[in-house]
Amino acid sequence: MRIVLVGPPGAGKGTQAALLAENLGIPHISTGDLFRANISQGTELGREAQRYMREGNLVPDEITVGMATERMAQPDAEDGFLLDGFPRNIAQARSLDKQLEEAGLALDGVLDLEVPEEEVVRRIAGRRMCRKDSSHIFHAEYSKPAVEDVCDVCGGELYQREDDSEETVRKRLEVYHQETEPIIDYYREQGLVVTLSALGAVPEVTQRALAALRSGDAA
Ligand code: AMP
Repeated sequence: MRIVLVGPPGAGKGTQAALLAENLGIPHISTGDLFRANISQGTELGREAQRYMREGNLVPDEITVGMATERMAQPDAEDGFLLDGFPRNIAQARSLDKQLEEAGLALDGVLDLEVPEEEVVRRIAGRRMCRKDSSHIFHAEYSKPAVEDVCDVCGGELYQREDDSEETVRKRLEVYHQETEPIIDYYREQGLVVTLSALGAVPEVTQRALAALRSGDAA
């Protein structure tokens, strides 16, 4: 299965993507995680990307598309993948379509996670991520770890993302409305979109998404 997950920052894309990918037996490919890995390894690509991420802006397409394409070409993604945070604008969506078409492949569905704007800011302001595994995500108030700043799952250090400050979140939301939201209509025209509410307990949202994928609503 080849799936794209779309939604504003704070919709729970990272959490849901990790669970859905595991359930479906496909790799979870997050361009945000790939950028953050490059930043922590101090690569040239990481340094370049960080300049944009800090401000809540999109990293230029030539950097992003190249990195995503390289990741999708890995052997574990041969039979499918779940894309989280890519594509993020129409140009990226077109380039993904072209690339899949040239390989005789196509997307099976686009899951659009919806969440009210006040909820986004509330979720992100308290978000804490694990340095060892970015799918281990906590919240300072709503999903506290047993020991402060320590991941319950693997003992990794929890930290707040540099771009999770309220000011940067507002900018990221603006960028989402302007650049990313139009891809929902782009994919809707292809009959690929299923819209889901991202509210409720994490397992409930996962089950909703799996049911939609299985019933073919997203195909
Ligand atoms: P995320 O982890 O998906 O919230 O992404 C964090 C940041 O990485 C975004 O705010 C962008 O600056 C950058 N980024 C991630 N994916 C993309 C993409 N597909 N295109 C451009 N920038 C991206």
